[in-house]
Amino acid sequence: MHPKHHFKYCPSCSKPTIFFQNYGAFECEECHFQLFINASAAVAAFILNEEGELLMAKRKHDPQAGTLDLPGGFVEVMEPAEDAVKREIMEELNLEVTHLEYFGSFPNEYLYKGMTYHTLDLAFVCKVKTFEGMQVNDDVADAIFIRPEKIDLNDIGLDSIRRMVLQYQKSIK
Ligand SMILES: [Zn+2]
Repeated sequence: MHPKHHFKYCPSCSKPTIFFQNYGAFECEECHFQLFINASAAVAAFILNEEGELLMAKRKHDPQAGTLDLPGGFVEVMEPAEDAVKREIMEELNLEVTHLEYFGSFPNEYLYKGMTYHTLDLAFVCKVKTFEGMQVNDDVADAIFIRPEKIDLNDIGLDSIRRMVLQYQKSIK
């Protein structure tokens, strides 16, 4: 559900007078406090091995547990997106990203515990130092290498990741 179904009281004056406005913010009729709802930034990585196979992760948790995903995650407050890629790839796969190149942005809706988060998923094509010592951790259940053109988009759970992989498949044709 959209955040407007979760916020009932003004976070500033505590009165039940806060309403979501069509310009994208909550506004309190009592104290005129405004709370803008913007997209949260997230990152995803295309990591290829020397055979040109793409590293796909299997999601451990909901939403869409068990489906294929690209490694990545949410950008922290005040964190550069490039640092978020490096941090997430280290956390999830114990791999050191040595080079990354921006690929594109993919807006998404991410349902978590009843609340819909709007995200802006930023995709990067990454190179890693070595695949030696790779291990899956954190919110990744498994990691597989697969030729990009062989990936069945129906096996991917998140809509933005599906669009990313589709665009990537088109880009290498
Ligand atoms: Zn208020």
